[in-house]
Amino acid sequence: MQLGMTDEQKLLQQTVRRAAQEKMAPLVAEIDRKDHEYYDTIRNFVQELGLLSLIIPKECGGPGGNLTTACIVVEELGKVIPAAAAILGGHYLAIDCIEAGAKEDIRSRYLTQFATGKYLAAICLTEPEAGSDAAAIKTRAVRQGDNYVLNGRKCFITSGGMADILSVFAVTNPGKGAKGVSLFIVERDTPGISTGKIEDKMGMRGTQTAEVIFEDAIVPAQNLVGEENKGFVMALDGFDKSRPLVGALSVGLAQAALDQAVEYAKVRVTFGKPIAQHQAIRFMIADMAMQVEAARALVYKTAAMADSGHKAELRKFASMSKCFGSDVAMRVTTDVVQIFGGYGYMRDYPVERMMRDAKLTQIFDGTNQIHRMVIASSIFHD
Ligand SMILES: Cc1cc2nc3c(=O)[nH]c(=O)nc-3n(C[C@H](O)[C@H](O)[C@H](O)COP(=O)(O)OP(=O)(O)OC[C@H]3O[C@@H](n4cnc5c(N)ncnc54)[C@H](O)[C@@H]3O)c2cc1C
Repeated sequence: MQLGMTDEQKLLQQTVRRAAQEKMAPLVAEIDRKDHEYYDTIRNFVQELGLLSLIIPKECGGPGGNLTTACIVVEELGKVIPAAAAILGGHYLAIDCIEAGAKEDIRSRYLTQFATGKYLAAICLTEPEAGSDAAAIKTRAVRQGDNYVLNGRKCFITSGGMADILSVFAVTNPGKGAKGVSLFIVERDTPGISTGKIEDKMGMRGTQTAEVIFEDAIVPAQNLVGEENKGFVMALDGFDKSRPLVGALSVGLAQAALDQAVEYAKVRVTFGKPIAQHQAIRFMIADMAMQVEAARALVYKTAAMADSGHKAELRKFASMSKCFGSDVAMRVTTDVVQIFGGYGYMRDYPVERMMRDAKLTQIFDGTNQIHRMVIASSIFHD
């Protein structure tokens, strides 16, 4: 339970929990096996629950859900269907980056569109040679009259081949690194945009991870978000909100794995007693419970900081909640597989799938190495 949840948040939490249990839990194993056959099912699930518009501000026609509310939703989904949580995470990040820099024109054209809850967004930053070093992107946007012409290739984009609206980072001032990148809103049906390779992933199956290719794609200049060459500032503001969401996803995943371990430990008998009676197992469970609660506390503290406009240390806490939460998810899911013994290694039980899902949380939205760099830089005021 999160301390200080409003009645509205509690109701939303229960609604998402019930819907995930009823509609997604029976499908999770099959989604893991059949992956692409379920991309639309998961998208429709989050859309029908009204979650695509959750964070759109009230003045743009949305419900105005804050980061704490988004974390509550994502944690619940992370327990049952982490793929849905990951899709929402990418979608919210794409919107948060737009919101970070959008002037009135774009707010009224696009945020109101997102408020209908029918549009899925993708964040297009990573490229084949620019992941951690995101300022090294090469996708070019060249101004021609009232338009920009985009050329380049993005990779590993969550919902890249199915999102209706793309938040695309492209170079407008070559040679200037982070100071030469701008953010554009690009509509899916723009001529010159195509979907490349769709990845076959270790885990988090049911999310589409795709290349997005731009070949002389013409984007109206009015779709530049904010000012030219300020895209990176918007990306960083967006990440301040997306990283706690990855932390929340990780907490949900770790909690669900821990719950599985507790139940299994009560019924699996070795040496004449349930393994829950062996101290080695009890201590593992106790350690896991402490880690999950600590990760949860960090996530909701960070979300509360963001929601109250406490910006001074937000970047550090955003990285800490993502990095710590995902390390906990990886450690806990690995230990849960251990508690299940040989059965944990088999696909008949859900815990090996949870371990594969958890691995992604340490990689996307900035690897945990990069987050440790961010945290250390913040401590040393580099
Ligand atoms: C399933 C999935 C979904 C994704 N979704 C999206 C999305 O929707 N949108 C998007 O734009 N991107 C997305 N990404 C991309 C993701 O953010 C990048 O994969 C990630 O940032 C790492 O970049 P990279 O893969 O190029 O690794 P690299 O940058 O090549 O890193 C390789 C290794 O080197 C380490 N490393 C790199 N630099 C340093 C350093 N300076 N010091 C120490 N260690 C370092 C890294 O931590 C990593 O271990 C997704 C990725 C995956 C796998």
